[in-house]
Amino acid sequence: MLPALPNITLPPAPNVSRIQRVLKPVPFILLHVAAVVAPFFVPLTWTSAALCVGLYVARMFGITGVYHRYFAHRTYKTSRWFQFVLAWLGCSAMQKGPLWWAGHHRHHHKHSDQDEDPHSPIKKSVWWAHVGWVISSKSRNAPKDTMQDFARFPELRALDSYLTWVPGLLLAAACYAIDGMSGLVWGFLVSTILLYHGTFLVNSACHLFGTRRYNTTDHSKNCWWAAILTLGEGWHNNHHHYQSCARQGFKWWEVDVSYYVIRTLGFVGLVWDIREPTPKALAKNLIQKTV
Ligand SMILES: [Zn+2]
Ligand SMILES: [Zn+2]
Repeated sequence: MLPALPNITLPPAPNVSRIQRVLKPVPFILLHVAAVVAPFFVPLTWTSAALCVGLYVARMFGITGVYHRYFAHRTYKTSRWFQFVLAWLGCSAMQKGPLWWAGHHRHHHKHSDQDEDPHSPIKKSVWWAHVGWVISSKSRNAPKDTMQDFARFPELRALDSYLTWVPGLLLAAACYAIDGMSGLVWGFLVSTILLYHGTFLVNSACHLFGTRRYNTTDHSKNCWWAAILTLGEGWHNNHHHYQSCARQGFKWWEVDVSYYVIRTLGFVGLVWDIREPTPKALAKNLIQKTV
């Protein structure tokens, strides 16, 4: 699936004018205002509630199980057509394309909680780590030279450029078709905003709150409540210790829904070569031997 790769790099960051810098966060802010105000005027129906929960969970997997564990860390393999299906699902979360997302994430692991970390709450503020870096013009393009392995696929480059907002907008239209304004506001808008902040917790809370099982070179923590909200990503110290395996909950009680979904996809043959942690790696650099 991923043979020797040509040396492809993403385009250089464009010059950003002051007005572009000021306008960049405006759509993000308007989405938040709409998600707070509109629910007062639009009724919550059973259908829209189901859409809200269902789309939160499905798209959280699109970020955690796909953008993160597949595109950033290559913890399992799949076919080219299913890779695009997965990328489309991740893109429908409105968190930009897979190359942008995974490229920044690889940069995070390379420089975790150091000056070049794009979103460290230790080096910068909690606000910056949670949301500031996302809406800053500094993060407009993916870091160069970090995604050559996937940048060779034109369909993925399309999701990172002219198709970026299409999966999300089509999903919004589908929600409206299913349940009118309730579907659009509760099913799509509210779940999208909850999804933003659920995902962002991994960058902010999971480097601040929780426990450390492994002696990593950063401040990553295992945070149980973030793990529940993010389908398993909250076991972040585990993940920083062993980035190349598909599971992040190493104990039976460390609930890791994304891993269960990946295993299910493996069971039906859609993905394969799911990487598991070795006993040797699990026993290495332990701080707490009993938990
Ligand atoms: Zn981290
Ligand atoms: Zn990671």
